[in-house]
Amino acid sequence: MPSPVLTLSASAKINLWLRVTGKRADGYHEVETRLCPISLADEISLSKRTDKAVNLTCSDATVPTDESNLVLRALRAYESATGSRSGWDIHLEKRIPHGAGLGGGSSDAAAMLRGLNELGASPLSKAELIELAAALGSDVPFFLHETVCDATGRGEKVQPVEFPWRLPLVLIKPSFSISTPWAYNHWAESRELPGVLYAPQLCEWGNLVNDLERPVFEKWALLPTLKTWLLDQPESRAALMSGSGSTIFAIARSGADAAALAERAKVFCGETTWVQVAETL
Ligand code: C5P
Repeated sequence: MPSPVLTLSASAKINLWLRVTGKRADGYHEVETRLCPISLADEISLSKRTDKAVNLTCSDATVPTDESNLVLRALRAYESATGSRSGWDIHLEKRIPHGAGLGGGSSDAAAMLRGLNELGASPLSKAELIELAAALGSDVPFFLHETVCDATGRGEKVQPVEFPWRLPLVLIKPSFSISTPWAYNHWAESRELPGVLYAPQLCEWGNLVNDLERPVFEKWALLPTLKTWLLDQPESRAALMSGSGSTIFAIARSGADAAALAERAKVFCGETTWVQVAETL
């Protein structure tokens, strides 16, 4: 394999808040959300081939490497928009779990668009890239910005915002994944469980709340238990589900507190649970 011509970092995200304000005629839901890129990231290596073949490999055998992968969908969208076609060896080093509400696939797609545009002979404008990104998924335009953004519409209308904090995080993802359509489709008829905190947590960096907790917590009872446990720990300032789950994150008081909390979480949750320390970027 030729040496990589470009290595791209594709950050994960958390939603500091996510309000669902209604269902639209096209089946999507209107949202108001704040997205923060975080230090956890996938890595994409791109090498140009001498022929026109495209070969995608991935460190995670459970991730499909066929044309359904968002990295290849981004490549095909970019090729259609520019009329260009090259051969690529692409390696995806997966560190962001999927079905986790952390935006892994969307971030990979955005990184691919950025990378292709960097290497392309006649690059697309930022507006053209954003349009391609929005067609790939509601979260993809946010990842082109690489900074904290507020998003509206179905999540594709993004506005970068000032965010002077670097928040220490503990991310906990149980072994199961959650499908985003499932969470949205059950939002309207869902109910709050007694004894669980859904109300906004008032913090200096915003009011933390996630309207998708309601449907998701009804089906996956472990998640409200995890959130309540995190809120009870002395190191936590707040705890919330990210996106449509299944990751629950805590904002810790300091980096040292995040490390201590992560160690205790590993004991509390057991080996099948993924626990990771990170911070907002
Ligand atoms: O845009 P994306 O492909 O990520 O969305 C996946 C699915 O999640 C949509 O087909 C839709 O069912 C649901 N969704 C929604 N409202 C949003 C975003 C996603 O209903 N704002």
